Amino acid sequence: MDKLDFMREELEAAKAEKRYINIRTMDSPADGWMVVDGKKVLNFCTNNYLGLANHPVLKEAAKKAVDEWGAGPAAVRTIAGTQRLHTECEQRLAAFKRVEAALLVQSGFCANQAAIPPLVGRDKQTGQQDVIFSDRLNHASIIDGARLSGAKIIVYEHCDPADLEAKVKEHLPKYRRGLVVTDGVFSMDGDIAPLDKLYEVAAKYNLLTMVDDAHGEGVLGQGRGIVSHFGLEGKFDVEIGTLSKAFGVMGGVIAGSSLVVEYIRQKARPNLFSSALTPADTAACMAAVDYVEKHPELVDKLWENAEYFKAGIQRLGIDTGHTQTPIVPVMLGDVKLAKEFSAKLFEYGVFAMALGFPTVPRGQARIRVMNTAAHTKEDLDLGLEIFERVARELGVV
Ligand SMILES: *Cc1c(COP(=O)(O)O)cnc(C)c1O
Repeated sequence: MDKLDFMREELEAAKAEKRYINIRTMDSPADGWMVVDGKKVLNFCTNNYLGLANHPVLKEAAKKAVDEWGAGPAAVRTIAGTQRLHTECEQRLAAFKRVEAALLVQSGFCANQAAIPPLVGRDKQTGQQDVIFSDRLNHASIIDGARLSGAKIIVYEHCDPADLEAKVKEHLPKYRRGLVVTDGVFSMDGDIAPLDKLYEVAAKYNLLTMVDDAHGEGVLGQGRGIVSHFGLEGKFDVEIGTLSKAFGVMGGVIAGSSLVVEYIRQKARPNLFSSALTPADTAACMAAVDYVEKHPELVDKLWENAEYFKAGIQRLGIDTGHTQTPIVPVMLGDVKLAKEFSAKLFEYGVFAMALGFPTVPRGQARIRVMNTAAHTKEDLDLGLEIFERVARELGVV
């Protein structure tokens, strides 16, 4: 018996059950058009909402930072890794989010591992536990951060403040303190958390509040994100963000009051035990934030493109779910159909991902279209034409 057999068995099972992930290789930068596995295609797969990932202004900032600051910081933030670039970028991010302070970390995923455990967990002396109220469809990095904290996790129904309140009433009295945490925009359906209603419940029961706005920054609230969209600036204790989606670079952000950010900066293990973001990333992030602030028309373009594309799909008689953002789910139902649809799109020159169970509920398989400001109207017309052609060939319309 080979001790690695379990790996072979799992990989074979994944292939047999069509769960195996075939990973495509990009042969060009992330943009409206990309070369994917050697083939030039119209791209609807990246989270490059504002088309900044390959933007000359960001690239220039990164190059300059490499010349001035080197390739890497060679230390964690708390020892020798905090370069002037990092503190400047944090100030810029805090101003952008209209909060007092921000902590830059290595990624959005990392931001959730960093932020949640310092907020809630279990008291080492008394053993008293805290409780996290988490939306049923929260992102994997929130779930992992929550598990890492050691707090009790209570799941409330998706975007359901009434269920949140019922669960808080039932469970909060048994615990030391509570945290409510939600995605801002849910990336599978493109729907938005009812942040105002969730905030009301949290305020009533004195819960800590946290929102992860990975898909809302650069998109909602004139680009400032979901908190701004709801006019709740400064009300959420912790705002998580990523610099890898609309901002087109890499990195995560934890934003809030000076007190909250100072506390997390002292306690967060990814800040204490993992090296700082590179100078190139940090400078490009800063350039991205500046660029978004100065170019609100990019956000308008993104929304125009998304509305145009969504209307085109709806004209074909295909359901686009309940999206409220530039994420457009093209609902097909059957997972085999969705995969076949995606393969045919690729054959005809459109790169768009099929999502099926367990990523989305059974029977709700779809093609997920990520719109971006990087597409022209001609691109969208071509994309829609190819969607229509595939839909006809597969008998969807
Ligand atoms: C994409 C995403 C992340 C991860 O961000 P990265 O910067 O890519 O690590 C975290 N949270 C949510 C809600 C996301 O959608």
